[in-house]
Order: sequence, then structure tokens, then C-alpha cells
Amino acid sequence: MAADELRSLYQEIILEHNKNPRNFRTMEDSDVSVEGYNPLCGDHYTVYLKLEGDVVKDVSFKGSGCAISKASASVMSTMVKGRTKQEAEALFERFHDLVTGKPGQSASLDDLGSLAAFAGVSEFPARVKCASLAWHTLHGALENKQEAITTE
Ligand code: ZN
Repeated sequence: MAADELRSLYQEIILEHNKNPRNFRTMEDSDVSVEGYNPLCGDHYTVYLKLEGDVVKDVSFKGSGCAISKASASVMSTMVKGRTKQEAEALFERFHDLVTGKPGQSASLDDLGSLAAFAGVSEFPARVKCASLAWHTLHGALENKQEAITTE
């Protein structure tokens, strides 16, 4: 696929997830919920988790922010459901490498699914925090943090 085509496909994925975010709801019976805040952009979400042992049985999020932050939270929720904590953390690491432009990432985009849509974010350093906010918040929830997570 040509770079331009790929870019517009990625934009479509982000716009679609922003318009129809998955798992976008308050979870009344969550085991853990953590707030995440990106003061630079004003993105503000709460991530809810239902855990069964080491497995993320259910995940949802609620809040508001820019298109990239909301789309990223939506994709995150679809990717980590049913995974173990360790698998979720490993995905977070790969996602973080991707959006911060660590070399060697493009070779392994195929198995990243919709996460790959955020590869272009690495060209916009100010947007990295928008894209990774939901993941940082998820990380806090998996660590059972009580305080709110901030990107600053
Ligand atoms: Zn943002």
C-alpha cells in the first residue's frame, strides 16, 4: 500500500473510533477505576476495569477529549479485553514505542491491528500524550493506583 493510502486509512480508523467509541460507558460494578488527565490538551477520562485474577474481563472508559485521545482509548479498550495484565502491559509498551517513534516499529505494524493507526502520531510530539493517555491510565488501573494519572 502506498504511504498516502496508508495514511488516509489510518486517519479513517481514528475518525471512526472518535465518532463511535467502543466500550464508552461508565461501569457501575468495576473492580477498579482510575482517572487520567492530560492538562496540555484537556483530555480527561476515567478507565474502568473488571478483573478476574490476572485477566481483564471487561474494560470501559468515559470522559472527553480530542479525537486522538478518544480514538486511542476506544482502540485500547478493544485490544486489552480478555488479555492478561502482562499482555496488556506488553501492548502498552509496543504502543508507546510506536507513538514515540522508536526505530524498528514499522517492521511489526501488521500484528498491531488498529493500534497501527497511531503510528503517524510520532510526527507530532504534542499529540503523543493525547494518544497515550488512556494507556497510562490503564497502566495505573492495573497497578491499582488510587490517585489520578496525569501525563505531566
Ligand atoms: Zn488531546
